[in-house]
Amino acid sequence: MMGAPSKPAARRKSEARKQSATALHSHDAEVLRQTLERYELIFKATHDILYDLDLDSGTVVWNEALHVQFGYAADEPADTLEWWTQHIHPDDALRVEHQVADWFDSGATTWQTEYRFLKADGSYCYVRDRGFLQRAPHGEPIRIIGSLLDITKQKELDLAKDEFISLVSHQLRTPLTVIRLYSEMLTNGFIGKLDSAQEAHIGRITNASVRLIKLVEDILNVSRIELDRISINPTSLDPNKLIEATIADITPLASEKGITIVFEPDNTLHALPLDDTIFCQIVHNFLTNAVRYTRPLKGHVDILFVREDESYVLTVRDNGIGIPKTDQPHIFSRFYRANNAVNIEEHGTGLGLYLVKLMAEAFNGRVWFESTMGRGTTFFLQLPLTGMSQTTHMHA
Ligand code: ADP
Repeated sequence: MMGAPSKPAARRKSEARKQSATALHSHDAEVLRQTLERYELIFKATHDILYDLDLDSGTVVWNEALHVQFGYAADEPADTLEWWTQHIHPDDALRVEHQVADWFDSGATTWQTEYRFLKADGSYCYVRDRGFLQRAPHGEPIRIIGSLLDITKQKELDLAKDEFISLVSHQLRTPLTVIRLYSEMLTNGFIGKLDSAQEAHIGRITNASVRLIKLVEDILNVSRIELDRISINPTSLDPNKLIEATIADITPLASEKGITIVFEPDNTLHALPLDDTIFCQIVHNFLTNAVRYTRPLKGHVDILFVREDESYVLTVRDNGIGIPKTDQPHIFSRFYRANNAVNIEEHGTGLGLYLVKLMAEAFNGRVWFESTMGRGTTFFLQLPLTGMSQTTHMHA
């Protein structure tokens, strides 16, 4: 049996406890010191501008890169959210504000965007802003830690590349149109009747040239928008008429596959400011996709255009192949095609929906979809109640 420790033994024990507590403290302090040093060195080593924003107080802590890269003096009063937002280019500020609000609502933790930021010398540079959002246990956003990377050089290179692509596509369009025109003339017996083998060969040339022209046109349209050369020219137009005209264009393709397109126009709708080319291009894209990605014979496509409380919404619903869950986040990305779509429809560019999204952003619209594999897909376009109008925008 163990007795109570004698007095000197008890003292020894308590001293030992004190010593180990001190050792523990100094160990913790050392770990803390090393961690702080590590963060300080990372702050110094990276070329990114790092920030820590407390959303409650609106205070911001920056690393030295803010001063080194943007030329601000050490005593610049940059420690508030207000200072930050005031330094975003006025043409980008509203978009960024909306994107941040969407981010907070979405429940996501990470986010990125691009915008122009004012430097101390009065010029603007392009930055890529990447943030990580910390939320309170009930989900309220409380803090953002992130980085700004100066991507001005990259933007300039992209611009030069886009200019080049735009020029090349433009130059390709004319000779391609000539090829299509002459092959169509041959098919139509312009220089005499063709035998069936000749007709089949020329038919292939026509089809290939039609596909190439479509590709070149898509690329040209994308580069136009990316170069901010898209102009929205709204005039007062009846959306029902535009939809009916677009359906008429697509009906031959749909009938060929035995797919019906149903549109019941809402006759209470009035004309509204629309750019007919842009509007029809979006409807055309949704409709052709609905027809292309639906199996023959049993397919039907419904199209709706209605006024809701805060907006107009165009809906195109099909009972086609659907979009696999893993592909869904990428469907509006440039050149992206899901495998099930490639299997059913070999030819495609993956540019149509990317273009639709850019066009919608250009007039303050929004596009999204819902889809179930094997059951069908519904695409939506939302338009402001004021119809289409030009916005200044930048792609992020
Ligand atoms: P493309 O149709 O030329 O491939 P898009 O950009 O129009 O290019 O579409 C991108 C991808 O989105 C398609 O390849 C397909 O995977 C998917 N998609 C678009 N619309 C539909 C739809 N209605 N049903 C199923 N998948 C679709």
